[in-house]
Amino acid sequence: MRVTCNFSLTEYTGGISRYKQHQFGIVGNVTPCTKTLEEVNLILRESEENRLAKVNSISAEVHEDDERANLQEIAKDGKWEKAC
Ligand SMILES: [Zn+2]
Repeated sequence: MRVTCNFSLTEYTGGISRYKQHQFGIVGNVTPCTKTLEEVNLILRESEENRLAKVNSISAEVHEDDERANLQEIAKDGKWEKAC
């Protein structure tokens, strides 16, 4: 079976497992693909940034809910009406 790396265009005659070893940079029977590693690093960096953005937006929501909860607490105690 012949496999060609989409990124570095290296040809392999050994099947998909060798190709994967090449793509994921597993040191073994093949030389790791530098092109793929760049791509993978980029994807990993992007997904990490997305994850952080998600975490930030979630914590912002939580903060908002906390504030609303505090206002409800104040309203329950009647302090809110007095304050107005
Ligand atoms: Zn490659």
